[in-house]
Amino acid sequence: MNYYSDYITKLTEELGRLPGIGHKSAARLAYHIINMPKESVKELTDVITAAREKVRYCSRCFNLTDAEVCPICSSEKRNQAQIMVVENPRDLAAYEKTGKYEGVYHVLHGAISPVLGIGPADIKLKELIKRLEGDIEELIIATNSSLEGEATAMYISKLVKPTGIKVSRIASGVPVGGDLEYIDEVTLLRALEGRVTL
Ligand code: ZN
Repeated sequence: MNYYSDYITKLTEELGRLPGIGHKSAARLAYHIINMPKESVKELTDVITAAREKVRYCSRCFNLTDAEVCPICSSEKRNQAQIMVVENPRDLAAYEKTGKYEGVYHVLHGAISPVLGIGPADIKLKELIKRLEGDIEELIIATNSSLEGEATAMYISKLVKPTGIKVSRIASGVPVGGDLEYIDEVTLLRALEGRVTL
C-alpha cells in the first residue's frame, strides 16, 4: 500500500540512485526537499540543470570547465611544459588546493584495470600522447598508488620514455590505495617534491 504521494516515492527512488545515498538518506532528503521553500527548490534544480548543461571537459587537459579551454590551461602564469597526470578532476583539485604546483595537468578520467576491463583506450591516454608532440619538458605521473594507478603509471612511462621527455612519479608517501583527494596538502606536497625520475 502506498500511503504517501507517488511523487515522494519517485523522488526517494531518484535520490537513492546517487552514489553514497542509501534508502534511508534518500527518504530523509526527499522529506527535506518537500519542506523547503519552493524558491529554494527551484534554485537547486536550476543549478543542477545548468551544471549538467554547461560543464564539459577542457579540450586540452580534460579537466571540468565551462569554457573551451580551462583557466589552468589558459593561464600565462602556469608552466605549460610541465604536465601532471591525474586520474580524475578531484585529484587535480587536491593538488590545486596546495597552491604550490605551477605546471598544468592531464586528467585521464580513470585508470587501466584489466580486472574491470578498462584498457588504455578507455581513458584519455591517446589525448595525452598527442599533447607530448608539443613543447613538453616533464611528465609527472600522479595516479593513485592503487594497483590500477601503478599499472597506469608503468604503462605511461614505457610509452613516453622513448620520446626523451622526462617522466617522474610522485613519491610513495601517498598511502597505498589512498585516493589523492583524501590526502592532506602537506603529504601531497611532499609526494610532489620527492618525485622520482622513472
Ligand atoms: Zn585544461
